[in-house]
Amino acid sequence: MNKLIIYIIDAARPDYINPTDTPFLHRIKANHGLTVLRPSFGFCERTEIMTGTKPLENGFFTAIGFDPSSSGYRKYKYLNAFFGVFDGVDKIIFGGLVRKVARRIYRRLGVGFDCYQIPFKYLSYLSLTEDSSAGIRFMKNAPNSLYKLCKKKGLKVNDSSFTSLGKADLKNDLARIDNLKHQLSNGNEDVYLVYISHCDSNAHYKGPESTNFRKSLSVLDQHLSDFYSWATTKLSENVKSIYIGDHGMREVINRFDITSAFHDFESIHKDRIEAIFVDSTVCRFWFKDKEVKLAFMNWAMGHREFTDFGVFYSCEDYEKLGVPNVSRRYGDLMWVANSGVLIEPCYFNPEKGVLNGMHGYIPKDNKDFGFITGDCGSYKSDIQDLVTANKIILRAINDIF
Ligand SMILES: [Zn+2]
Repeated sequence: MNKLIIYIIDAARPDYINPTDTPFLHRIKANHGLTVLRPSFGFCERTEIMTGTKPLENGFFTAIGFDPSSSGYRKYKYLNAFFGVFDGVDKIIFGGLVRKVARRIYRRLGVGFDCYQIPFKYLSYLSLTEDSSAGIRFMKNAPNSLYKLCKKKGLKVNDSSFTSLGKADLKNDLARIDNLKHQLSNGNEDVYLVYISHCDSNAHYKGPESTNFRKSLSVLDQHLSDFYSWATTKLSENVKSIYIGDHGMREVINRFDITSAFHDFESIHKDRIEAIFVDSTVCRFWFKDKEVKLAFMNWAMGHREFTDFGVFYSCEDYEKLGVPNVSRRYGDLMWVANSGVLIEPCYFNPEKGVLNGMHGYIPKDNKDFGFITGDCGSYKSDIQDLVTANKIILRAINDIF
């Protein structure tokens, strides 16, 4: 009997695999090869890997999109409006207490996703994209879905050590690896999905080029090596593994407080702006009319940070970037940060000056890319699109089972 374990190592770059920092993964690379993977521009790599589709085909670009009809917050208009009174002042006056309380209440109500630092007034416009029920359905039923192939072959998938924005995850990598051990020892599944956060969480704070971060790679490598030894000695089944870095990470060089910069414009045109969503590298805007969108672009052209640190893309140009332009989901307009520029603060990272690494830039080179390697199959040493990971996984499943 065979078992296949697929590790998604968040934000692991191909250059992290070397004899010094990651001897275990390097040995796998030396024996089987390693393919560098170029992700699409965006934040939905999981769907790309699991289904072999790019954002233009699957419709997913960022984790949270503008979709009022599907928003779990839509039902709580009065509650959102009540908390909305504290938008902008909660931190200054109450030290963020209102957000803490609101978060707890919303969670209990089962609204679908955490409110992070998103202004309360926008919540009823927003909903999950790839982690929504429609997104999960797509992930399980797309023509080249890993789940679909397994179902067809009568194989069981265990994704209890995996991750998504909508579910309460196991706390950390060790908890996920422990759970994996438990599942392998007690269950009867065939394909196991494991999410590893080490590279992402560490490089965000330490910066991907720092000695500190490079040193930390050996900790992850040791965990993977220990698990491999455990699996090969303790399990009677033949265990095969595939390791995937889904995208890269860049050192932060410049920071731009887009919320404060936008505030001057917003205060004059308040009633004509529907929403703004501030991500770490992409800021999206929704306007009530075309004139105010043009007025904003003209206004921003007079502010150096907007022109020096990034580029505006109007929704008519999204497809050229590989970004789906569907029902205003990803904005009427977006501002995309140049490589190494961090929008700070943003809705996911409220503190200034804390992050030293970021991803989510338009992919250019190895610093933005991921990889795939493993102890089953052989891996060509050229650069492929991230969707190739899907082809390799499906081939491995067909070969192994
Ligand atoms: Zn990240």
